[in-house]
Amino acid sequence: MDDAVVVGSGPNGLAAAVTLARAGLSVTVLEADETIGGGARTLAPGDDGDLLEGLPAGVVHDLCSAVHPMAWASPFFRAFDLRAHGVELLTPEVSYAQPLPGGRAAVAYRDLERTAEGLGPDGDAWRSLLGPLAEQWEAVVAVGLGDRRSVPPGILDGADPLRAGAGAVRFALALLEQGSRAWDARFSGDGGALLTGVAAHTITRLPSLSAAGTSLLLGALAHATPGAGPAGFDGGWALPRGGSGAIVAALVADLQAHGGTVVTEHRVRTPADLPAARVVLFDTTPRTLLDVLGPAVGPGLRRALEGFRHGNSAAKVDYVLSGPVPWADPEVGRAGTVHVGGTRAEMARAENTVAAGRHAERPVCLVSDPTVVDASRRVVTGGAELRPLWAYTHVPAGSDVDVTETVAAQIERFAPGFRDVVVGARAIPAARMAEHNQNYVGGDISAGAATMWQMLARPTLRANPYRVAGGVYLCSASTPPGPGVHGMGGWHAARRALRDVFGLRVAAL
Ligand SMILES: Cc1cc2nc3c(=O)[nH]c(=O)nc-3n(C[C@H](O)[C@H](O)[C@H](O)COP(=O)(O)OP(=O)(O)OC[C@H]3O[C@@H](n4cnc5c(N)ncnc54)[C@H](O)[C@@H]3O)c2cc1C
Repeated sequence: MDDAVVVGSGPNGLAAAVTLARAGLSVTVLEADETIGGGARTLAPGDDGDLLEGLPAGVVHDLCSAVHPMAWASPFFRAFDLRAHGVELLTPEVSYAQPLPGGRAAVAYRDLERTAEGLGPDGDAWRSLLGPLAEQWEAVVAVGLGDRRSVPPGILDGADPLRAGAGAVRFALALLEQGSRAWDARFSGDGGALLTGVAAHTITRLPSLSAAGTSLLLGALAHATPGAGPAGFDGGWALPRGGSGAIVAALVADLQAHGGTVVTEHRVRTPADLPAARVVLFDTTPRTLLDVLGPAVGPGLRRALEGFRHGNSAAKVDYVLSGPVPWADPEVGRAGTVHVGGTRAEMARAENTVAAGRHAERPVCLVSDPTVVDASRRVVTGGAELRPLWAYTHVPAGSDVDVTETVAAQIERFAPGFRDVVVGARAIPAARMAEHNQNYVGGDISAGAATMWQMLARPTLRANPYRVAGGVYLCSASTPPGPGVHGMGGWHAARRALRDVFGLRVAAL
């Protein structure tokens, strides 16, 4: 009998497995899919039932996540030390850009001062909002990636509790401002649009508190510099050399080095699919857990977990290009991530249309060309140099619309001639996202609606959001702190399992 079984090999499942294996437990990870890594897989055409069917061979694509500020900033990854495990995080000089009507753009450089200078009349507003948060990024991360139940680390137990406390208060005040109708009070130029592109990652109403939390956490990390120490790397909105799969490979190698194993093509549907173990951690949605465990979950908790709501969705398009995207403003071409959606008002309108359950005519699209920092992602085939372009847009839950043309039209607005460099495209509509990852119900890539209530009471309001029953835990993005490749849900859940079931204490990170 294993000590622990983890259902699902996403970043949270693997973070949990690594934490348990490093504590000396025997661990088996069961993964439904052919390939390991859930939302952090990097695949080539032909891999995994040919999810990338029709695209030219040789180019690899990030099927889900592509951009990883939290891979250097998350306490779990800082302690794990990705660099020591061979992962190279490449930091573009431009973290993200916001193309605007008229061929202009707002640009978030790694350097906050340069960003502020480029924003003209909004320079001071940007400096005063994001400067202190970038400087106190560890306090911001402690709040943003915490378990939402404990006092954020650093405030009671840190070397400088006053500084940590002040950072948390600043974050909270900024959140109240950017999450309210007063969000425009400090901006009169392009600063509002630049920040809204980040807020839109949340796939929810704008303005709203949960979207503000995303924009301030990720916005701070865009300018933060981790400096020397275990975090290493250059900070910013980094991309792993070779794609997100490098993070998965590092976690799996560490798990195996500590005696753990991963079994693929093993979908857990009933208790009979689970080998005997003292603890089981589910890197799944609450719904999957309830389906598997049936009456083993008591009626009160079952009702509460059944009330956990899924949100609106992402529809993905993977392009192969014969050259860079011809952005009207060439500075956009230096960004690792581009938020395509125009002005703040235009993006708010589009996100609120999706929040109301309708397709937006001009939806917000997230776009990344990894070759901006990673030349290894360019391949020469038949004399032509090809590169991937990662893109997705927001649609209502369960939409079966192929968004290839919608995304191309949005990019073309700010990059005339885009279609001329497209060599191939493959869409995965929201309704089909769950075919390659059961957690993405109806295309909800957050594994649960990211409303403020569900960001706090995720998946329920209980004091221990991870423990379900006996030795059973939930550890996915449906638990705090929620979506993103940070491994913190897995780490928080594994730490509790070690304490509750094995009497082992793992220090807070
Ligand atoms: C298109 C897209 C773009 C994204 N972009 C970014 C980004 O740039 N940066 C970022 O930080 N985050 C991004 N994300 C979000 C991020 O990928 C997820 O939040 C993260 O992967 C969640 O990790 P997880 O371990 O909780 O679950 P997942 O990564 O979703 O993994 C869950 C795993 O469990 C398996 N599983 C589910 N049910 C069962 C079962 N019954 N039996 C066995 N196995 C099962 C699944 O197959 C899957 O492998 C993106 C997501 C998508 C889809």
